[in-house]
Amino acid sequence: MSIAANIEKIKSEIPETATLVAVSKTKPNEAILEAYNAGQRVFGENKVQELVQKQEDLPKDIEWHLIGHLQSNKVKYIAPFVHLIHAVDSFKLLLEINKQGKKNNRIINCLLQVKIAQEESKFGLDFDEAEFLFNEAKNLGFLHIVGFMGMATFTDDQAQLKNEFTSLSNFFKQQKSTNPQLKILSMGMSGDYHMAIEQGSTMIRVGSTIFGERNYN
Ligand SMILES: *Cc1c(COP(=O)(O)O)cnc(C)c1O
Repeated sequence: MSIAANIEKIKSEIPETATLVAVSKTKPNEAILEAYNAGQRVFGENKVQELVQKQEDLPKDIEWHLIGHLQSNKVKYIAPFVHLIHAVDSFKLLLEINKQGKKNNRIINCLLQVKIAQEESKFGLDFDEAEFLFNEAKNLGFLHIVGFMGMATFTDDQAQLKNEFTSLSNFFKQQKSTNPQLKILSMGMSGDYHMAIEQGSTMIRVGSTIFGERNYN
């Protein structure tokens, strides 16, 4: 199937209120333009350098999301244009994003990454840390925490996926009940977005199902 047909199919499977982030990492500009010409405007990248290059080369009405781990010393390169940073997981990073937001005179929207997978992963906060950082961030004027992001274990075990997504969904609902500025729950990728949506995801990040398998060579 074509890129356009893949996007159309995924959109038909999720609520209209959910956002599809087309994850274009490692993919050439031609592939991104094919998606763009099919109406897609939201794209996600996980490497700062690649994101900056593509932002320069491609149409300016694209909303670029940084979905991968972000190092503090690279925030300055994306601060002028990034639409949403998905994977904030430290106070140091929050402070740097706020600083660069101030320099660029814009508020940068961010999600806190919460660790929900059972597999060992270096990145992500536990629920207590996420709540703590969320409250700390309320004092920062050039950054808004608008939700949370999570990645489930890479598994076909539907019960496990359901458990992991539900844990984050419950946390999101609980925080949102007193913090209506929380709008986004980013969970679900090619292999698990159906379950993520069932458990309340409002934003899915899909790469290979749209663009085909990635080749890292
Ligand atoms: C690569 C990536 C995705 C998309 O993965 P697919 O399995 O190709 O859909 C989603 N989220 C993050 C954080 C990623 O790095």
